[in-house]
Amino acid sequence: MDGIYAAGCLVAGNWLTEGPSTDRTGPYLRRTVSRARTAQPADITAALDHARSEAKVIAALAPATRAEILERAAARVTERRDDFARLLALELGKPLKDSRGEMLRVADTFAVAAAEARAISGENLPVAGWARGVGNTAFTYRAPAGPVLAITPFNAPANLLAHKLAASFAAGNTTIVKPPPQAPAVSTELVKLLLEVGMPAEAVQVLHGSGDVGAALCGAPEIAVVSFTGSAKAGAAVAHAAGPKRALLELGGNAATIVCEDADIEQAAAICARTGYSNSGQSCISVQRVYVQRERFDEFVETFTGQVKSLVVGDPLDENTDVGSMVDDDAAERVVRWTAESGGTVTIGGTRDGAVCAPTVVAAPAPDATLIKEEVFGACVAVLPYDTFENVIQTCNQSSYGLQAGLFTYDVRRVLTAWRALEVGGLVVNGSSNFRLDHVPFGGVKDSGIGRESPRWMIEDFTVTKTLLLRGM
Ligand code: NAD
Repeated sequence: MDGIYAAGCLVAGNWLTEGPSTDRTGPYLRRTVSRARTAQPADITAALDHARSEAKVIAALAPATRAEILERAAARVTERRDDFARLLALELGKPLKDSRGEMLRVADTFAVAAAEARAISGENLPVAGWARGVGNTAFTYRAPAGPVLAITPFNAPANLLAHKLAASFAAGNTTIVKPPPQAPAVSTELVKLLLEVGMPAEAVQVLHGSGDVGAALCGAPEIAVVSFTGSAKAGAAVAHAAGPKRALLELGGNAATIVCEDADIEQAAAICARTGYSNSGQSCISVQRVYVQRERFDEFVETFTGQVKSLVVGDPLDENTDVGSMVDDDAAERVVRWTAESGGTVTIGGTRDGAVCAPTVVAAPAPDATLIKEEVFGACVAVLPYDTFENVIQTCNQSSYGLQAGLFTYDVRRVLTAWRALEVGGLVVNGSSNFRLDHVPFGGVKDSGIGRESPRWMIEDFTVTKTLLLRGM
């Protein structure tokens, strides 16, 4: 793509490209990549009306038909993976390796959602188990909940849109998508692909804009469910605006990975180097804090720093690049500033060139440094020593976040202790915090949000249970 991509709003089946718009400048090449029409108040009203009036069209579509459309989408994404990867690299500075990886996951997400669409079912309840139920019969089924609002963040704009839109459609709902302002082209192109493979025009609308557009939609009575992924701060505003309606919040984190004394240090360091800097650390579960048992601390820092040194940094369009640019210069500056203020020893990195943040390792920063307590969301990993296992679990739990943790050990008792005691939504063993399978439930506790993302669990949230009670039958 050499020209400027026109990312229109899609309202009631019409693509709107004229009118007020915002340009997205790619953070590495520093040229305008896309121009998104900003949704106007009239577009918002029209989209909400359409979502409500057309909800029954999608609800009436057989699950088999919804599944077939999603399967075709999976196949088409696989065919067009390189086009999308290039767009991700241009709009976000995400290296081709990571961008292709994201699109591989999008194809999986569509395929998983298709399988789950076929599996939506209800129950025949054992009502005769209680005296008042004897002689009666009760069934349930899951009905589409109604219009879903899908608000997505910039860091994985294709796969997170895929999760929300595919699960909503699989459940029989119509969806309004509010993409991130940093990735309008990728988001628009994915919606176009779905329409091309047969998703009905009534099933999806797109409204571009800043958080204000999202905020205006959250509280609208036409919306039945809000599915939001983004920062904890915006998530709190979304929850407030959504009021009593169902709001699923997938928010930030400052994920910890624990390396025990029995770990394979070479393997742990290699995995942390690969997963701590992919997408320049801009993942909600990126490796931010690594706690290493004191006996192995120096060895880990040295091995890890060596691994980080070998990462190829720079042009996201270069096939060899491991670490591209961050989303913008301000984000890279935040990483540099928090690193400098952390009180730790910078063993590598600590600098930036525009939006490219040099992969940074900070050894033994102050435990109460911003770099430890807040979400850095950048190409920086802090390594800290710990003494006892009980102690490190407590330290991890002091975070206000709780998304996912990593643990390197071969001791099954520690695995079970950590699984039960860590205040997180998920634990990865012999892997870092930064690993996700799209058909496995994913989500956080505490300030990391509520709800579990992945099609099966989202379909539960995007449907309502309807009960049928048959008296005397
Ligand atoms: P962000 O919160 O700035 O924006 C996310 C989306 O919300 C954007 O589309 C934005 O326009 C919109 N928005 C902002 N304010 C809003 C408001 N008041 N009402 C409605 N919509 C609003 O986040 P970001 O910088 O795009 O993404 C990074 C954040 O997302 C990080 O905190 C990261 O951890 C988190 N994230 C979480 C997960 C997860 O699954 N838990 C996955 C990816 C990213």
